[in-house]
Amino acid sequence: MQDLTHYIDGAHVAGTSGRFADVMNPATGEVQGRVPLASEAEVAHAVDVAARAQPAWAAVNPQRRARVMMKFVDLLNRDMDKLAEALSREHGKTLPDAAGDVQRGLEVVEYCIGAPHLLKGEYTDSAGPGIDMYSMRQALGVTAGITPFNFPAMIPMWMFAPAIACGNAFILKPSERDPSVPLMLAELMEEAGLPKGVLQVVNGDKEAVDAILHHPVIQSIGFVGSTPIAEYIYGTGCANGKRVQCFGGAKNHMIVMPDADMDQAADALIGAGYGAAGERCMAISVAVPVGDETADRLIEKLVPRIEKLKVGPYTAGKDVDYGPVVTAAAKANIERLVQTGIDQGAKLVVDGRNFNLQGYEDGFFVGPHLFDHVTKDMDIYRQEIFGPVLSTVRAQSYEEAIGLAMDHEYGNGTAIFTRDGDAARDFANRINVGMVGINVPIPVPLAYHTFGGWKKSVFGDLNQHGPDAFKFYTRTKTVTARWPSGIKEGGEFSIPVME
Ligand code: NAD
Repeated sequence: MQDLTHYIDGAHVAGTSGRFADVMNPATGEVQGRVPLASEAEVAHAVDVAARAQPAWAAVNPQRRARVMMKFVDLLNRDMDKLAEALSREHGKTLPDAAGDVQRGLEVVEYCIGAPHLLKGEYTDSAGPGIDMYSMRQALGVTAGITPFNFPAMIPMWMFAPAIACGNAFILKPSERDPSVPLMLAELMEEAGLPKGVLQVVNGDKEAVDAILHHPVIQSIGFVGSTPIAEYIYGTGCANGKRVQCFGGAKNHMIVMPDADMDQAADALIGAGYGAAGERCMAISVAVPVGDETADRLIEKLVPRIEKLKVGPYTAGKDVDYGPVVTAAAKANIERLVQTGIDQGAKLVVDGRNFNLQGYEDGFFVGPHLFDHVTKDMDIYRQEIFGPVLSTVRAQSYEEAIGLAMDHEYGNGTAIFTRDGDAARDFANRINVGMVGINVPIPVPLAYHTFGGWKKSVFGDLNQHGPDAFKFYTRTKTVTARWPSGIKEGGEFSIPVME
């Protein structure tokens, strides 16, 4: 049993609230540690420390701040295996997937090495007679981020790397399910040269989140997690005058057109639907084949692939396709939703219920499920399941298929599989979803583009990472300057008199 800590002012600090949460090993179902849940006073202390550290950090020139990011990239690569192992142990995902989690965060850190260029302002020479105008981007001050369990390395880095590169201090409140990697990242940032107090990790639950939401010194809040909490944090944070961006849940549709390469589409669906046990906000959870013949061909290709999936603990290495889900509660919720699907008339083509793994009977493993004949009114269609459950909704036309994705309340990601450029182009133009794949099932944009959904998948305007992050973590100040003629006109030798 490991007692975890907070990371405040450059040191591991024990919790003082007396409240803790269990940190599980999802593969074995055992409690492997406990994480302290911060009180309002502990959050306030971290904010005081951050507020003291931030001005000096903002005064460090951007190139030197970028050098800390460069060194941090080196350290992430040095410790990649260690980070991936710690991540898999608390989250349950496979080791290669855990390394991918670190890697996609690292790529945003690499982008942030461009801070000197990204923070350059704008300048208009001679905007009026003798008048110049320039805009600069300045750090906000103390910023904060609240992150979900499913990417405990990537999403914290998506937030703190740009925030810190811009000259802010950052307080991270990671998920209480898998807090170890965020603590390790804070240590590595300091090893990379970041002054104490600029990046702090405060572990906790709603109490810590509420303390962040109401603290007057915190200027901005980034949130990634489920939609109801996103909505709450956006509303409360904005009402308290903060700059807030919140990214919520998803129900990502993949349209399969009759002309698609069906093997390619089936392979794509297997990875995107069942990878990470379906616990990805960019997972495909709804397959929409167009036409019954396409649907039959697709299901025929999917079934043997699903039956071959290997589910197991990360310690089984490369032999495993996906691991357990994060908690017993998550597993119970998935099983409950599967039952609603059956009760509401969907056809369970692959039944993952009663999946049992010898030696891991107490782990939170869920077998793969495939539903066919799912309809719009069913709970398994309307709600985010966040598990290894793929629903097939049969559409009779392209219009019906695109309409399904457009009418759904979530709009994070979507994909179309087709050989028809015209259909793909029409889909990309009309769809009201933030991230679109054309024959690409999980279209997560790279670090130098931006990440964000539409509709109930997002609250706020600017996206994560890329140029938007540098806007979110800075304020624009615009200066209009006029210098009356001075000594360049020559010396004045007569005594000045009133004319
Ligand atoms: P969650 O909403 O339960 O928790 C997210 C964070 O909010 C955690 O730090 C948690 O401690 C905190 N929190 C939980 N309940 C709270 C409450 N009542 N008040 C204040 N704070 C609270 O989400 P999760 O289960 O950790 O993550 C899974 C969800 O995140 C899924 O819905 C998934 O789609 C979503 N997600 C979205 C994106 C995206 O970019 N859109 C990315 C990853 C995950």
